[in-house]
Amino acid sequence: MTDCIFCRIAAGELPSRKVYEDDEILAFHDIHPAAPVHLLIIPRQHVDSLAHCDASHQALLGKMLLLAPRLAQDMGLKDGFKTAIHTGVAGGQVVFHLHIHVIGG
Ligand code: AMP
Ligand code: ZN
Repeated sequence: MTDCIFCRIAAGELPSRKVYEDDEILAFHDIHPAAPVHLLIIPRQHVDSLAHCDASHQALLGKMLLLAPRLAQDMGLKDGFKTAIHTGVAGGQVVFHLHIHVIGG
């Protein structure tokens, strides 16, 4: 059993408001939304942060990033949206399981 919140969400051990899932990635609503739409896209596989990614994560990162505009469209963000990846303590990262914020509205 892991103490990583997002691994536990990916495993279904903790609840989340999922908007997308497949065998590699998951997207759900942020529990403390900073805007009317605030989603998080995570890999199922645990990776601490973007700084812990290497060439083996290239396809996964591309897939996560390409999901952002699809979800933004699904959520009605017709005029655009913001993405953010906090990396490390100085980058404001609080949950050390890689995630992309998708924010809009
Ligand atoms: P950061 O690590 O700075 O990118 O921020 C982590 C984000 O995860 C914050 O926006 C939190 O509100 C969000 N968060 C933390 N726990 C949960 C949870 N159980 N379900 C959904 N979002 C969460
Ligand atoms: Zn994790």
